[in-house]
Amino acid sequence: MVTESSDIRRQLPAVDRLLADPEIEALVALYGRELVRQQVRCELDSLRRQLATDTPGGKEELKAVVGELIQRVVATLREGVGSELRRVLNATGILLHTNLGRAPLPRDVAARLPGLLNAYCDLEFDLESGRRSERNRRTERLLTTLTGAEAALVANNNAGALVLVLATLARDREVVVSRGELVEIGGSFRVPDILRAAGARLVEVGTTNRTRIDDYEQAIGLETALLLKVHPSNYRMSGFVASAGAADLVSLARHRGLPLAVDEGSGLLRPHLAPQLQGHESVKELIGLGVDLVCSSGDKLLGGPQAGLLVGTAELVHRCRRHPLYRALRPDRAAYASLEAVLRCHLAQGPLPLDRLWVDRAVHRRRLKGLAEKLGVDIVEAEAFVGGGAAPERPIPGEALALPGDSELLYRLRQGDPPVVGYIREGRLILDLRTVDPEDDLLLATAVGAALAA
Ligand SMILES: *Cc1c(COP(=O)(O)O)cnc(C)c1O
Repeated sequence: MVTESSDIRRQLPAVDRLLADPEIEALVALYGRELVRQQVRCELDSLRRQLATDTPGGKEELKAVVGELIQRVVATLREGVGSELRRVLNATGILLHTNLGRAPLPRDVAARLPGLLNAYCDLEFDLESGRRSERNRRTERLLTTLTGAEAALVANNNAGALVLVLATLARDREVVVSRGELVEIGGSFRVPDILRAAGARLVEVGTTNRTRIDDYEQAIGLETALLLKVHPSNYRMSGFVASAGAADLVSLARHRGLPLAVDEGSGLLRPHLAPQLQGHESVKELIGLGVDLVCSSGDKLLGGPQAGLLVGTAELVHRCRRHPLYRALRPDRAAYASLEAVLRCHLAQGPLPLDRLWVDRAVHRRRLKGLAEKLGVDIVEAEAFVGGGAAPERPIPGEALALPGDSELLYRLRQGDPPVVGYIREGRLILDLRTVDPEDDLLLATAVGAALAA
């Protein structure tokens, strides 16, 4: 028979007594009393519901049940509000990995940021006159110098820059786009949806595989506001294909008195010699051809922070800047600070993380050999990729580390400190170090050594 006092539910401690437990007290210091109290109450309630009516139990059972409850509170809070954004070693060989934050900033650029972030700065303030100033002023000078454009503007990201262009130039009017460029770029960026969201009307021209300049010409009418060319990014067509080039579109747009915008995506600032990037026109080339507006991402081939760069004619860029939507799309000072510094790296032709992909084979082999010997693993052929929608089918041949392991090891590496992300190929775990900063080799070796030993 169950007596009243042996029913565990009646012996459960009150919320306040649980809050005094040392493990719970530690949580209070981290997350605040209110949140912890809420979670304790919630776990107590669910425990009471779980325990069948009249669950008998002595001191030992009670202790176990309360211990489990405390662990659940700890785990739920850690997972819910305690998990921090963590640095990860990207050994996937995909340089611009959107899930891993795209372009890493150069170390010296990142090193200068903290001093700007925990203080005030002259973001919109002219130290000379003591008056209000423009947050775009420095990036505009840098971007116009680097691309040859008359004016420049920075938005939160490329999607934002494109929405701004469409809302400013083509609201309630028509935008002519090739059917071959009505692509989805991932993360729910779909060209037709963006147009609609910005209030523009889409006029599709050509066919899926072939669009000629005549197709654009025939689609132009009284309602046409803009010709738009979109880089198809990670989507490729081959075989019987044709598209109108930027130069032809420039002459058509000039002839018909319409603006031409190019959504270039990658944000390559100057032509790159790598064969993998031959299909990517640089922003400078597009401006040189006479394109009126070019938008691109700051965190793709440019190698900077998340940002949308809009460059083009003074008249059109300034119209975009004056649009009320711009207020909702402007970046914060951390983005400006790192973007300005990365653009100055471009000016000085300094090294950027992107260059690591094209590392000299012999230099890379020496680096791999040192690590392979230390860890007792092999070196195998492997292909790296630019990622971020650039050169999707143009692998960069080279070598990587191959570990004896499978998804179990892959998991242990992800759970390590720091987490290491690699991939499985033919039953081996591959770590491609072309996307790992050589300065992190010791960290990597320690994390991999620990995962292999576990
Ligand atoms: C990546 C990409 C976008 C989206 O850029 P975000 O900076 O991620 O907003 C838009 N257009 C093209 C062509 C792209 O490649």
